[in-house]
Amino acid sequence: MSKPLDYFTYQAQNLTTSGADLSQIAEEYGTPAYVYSEAGLLEPVRGLTQGLTGWDPLICYAVKSSSNVTLLRRLAEAGAGMDIVSGGELYRCGKAGVPGRKIVFSGVGKTRTEIAEALQFGPNGIYSFHVESGPELEAIGEVAHAMGKRAPIAFRYNPNIAIKSHPYISTGLRKDKFGLPEKELLALVEKFRDHPGLYFKGVSIHIGSQILTLAPLRDAFARTIDLVAKLDARLPEPVTYVDVGGGLGITYKNEKHPKISEYCALIKKSFGKLRKSRNLQIVMEPGRLISGNAGLLLSRVLYRKPGHGKDFLIVDAAMNDLIRPSLYESHHEIVPVRKKPGTKQTTFDVVGPVCESGDFIAQNRKLPDSLQAGDLVAILSAGAYGFSMASNYNSRPRACEVLIADTGRPQLIRRRETYDELIAPEL
Ligand SMILES: *Cc1c(COP(=O)(O)O)cnc(C)c1O
Repeated sequence: MSKPLDYFTYQAQNLTTSGADLSQIAEEYGTPAYVYSEAGLLEPVRGLTQGLTGWDPLICYAVKSSSNVTLLRRLAEAGAGMDIVSGGELYRCGKAGVPGRKIVFSGVGKTRTEIAEALQFGPNGIYSFHVESGPELEAIGEVAHAMGKRAPIAFRYNPNIAIKSHPYISTGLRKDKFGLPEKELLALVEKFRDHPGLYFKGVSIHIGSQILTLAPLRDAFARTIDLVAKLDARLPEPVTYVDVGGGLGITYKNEKHPKISEYCALIKKSFGKLRKSRNLQIVMEPGRLISGNAGLLLSRVLYRKPGHGKDFLIVDAAMNDLIRPSLYESHHEIVPVRKKPGTKQTTFDVVGPVCESGDFIAQNRKLPDSLQAGDLVAILSAGAYGFSMASNYNSRPRACEVLIADTGRPQLIRRRETYDELIAPEL
């Protein structure tokens, strides 16, 4: 369903999206450039909505996966809410016109300032805070009470379930910093249920990212349902929402991943009974599923440097633009933007100009032998955790971002940074 080239296709040897020729995009906006397909961004939202027809799910896009305000606005126009992890992301939501009632606030370290901002967010504050610890719950209660408000709360439950993924993106194990184990969580309910600044609404989970099988989610959902019964027994009113988290995986190379329809069917099967007992709101927090294969990173080959047994393809995109290969050893397919005749392949390390040996986009990668300086390549599946993780390391201005509409019309949604902007905050 979500593959690297789902929304980018070759037309007469040229890579395109919605009819727009990516060579022309590179000419017009320069490289490196993040290019997003609007169709690709919106299709998963539609899929989730359709898969849960009649359930009216609140689909809260994980802003951290790709945070450009224009992307957020398009998603909000399509009905999506947002899952945020900082005041900065909340600010972006404000600029994108997302109403507070569609925002959930996740993350282990919400500051008092951020909590106050979320309580004041228009028109009536956010949908819910996902609480990760006792001290944080206390802080939220205090801030809300001091403001004469009651903060809507859900506990982030850590069901202690392993997923097969990179250890940096597992979040649902006891050893991870995220969520609360059942015993602690229930003790907090007992302690805080009568707090005048708090209002207990639901429970959330998020066990990790790039999840490729439904089994761990099935287990996590079952444990969540058990927990809801225990919460109901301790709270003045039954829990009204369950947030099933995000984490559904996509194809980067050749991984098989669950279909959106199968995922939705699992949610319906798991929570159907619970939903009969109350007006249950299902909240979801997909990030990568929405943005991952909707974006690519366009880059130009600077030099081809002969190496020991393989050549280095030195490109103008680097780890500061896309850190996933260096950080998670993740795989991104790389394809030429213009296919040349001849099929001979050779082994390359595709690297950037940053002064780190860890600066690589791909190692030991078979690519067309014809690639040379000046050619354009597309680094695929870069829409999620690409630009949003970019930095200025090596004093490199961050790339531009371009959104291609359904009609093929390109829109520059973030211009390339300038040298002046690199040093602007320095005193
Ligand atoms: C990062 C994150 C997500 C999104 O994860 P994906 O793997 O991109 O779907 C959802 N919920 C929370 C709490 C997160 O931290």
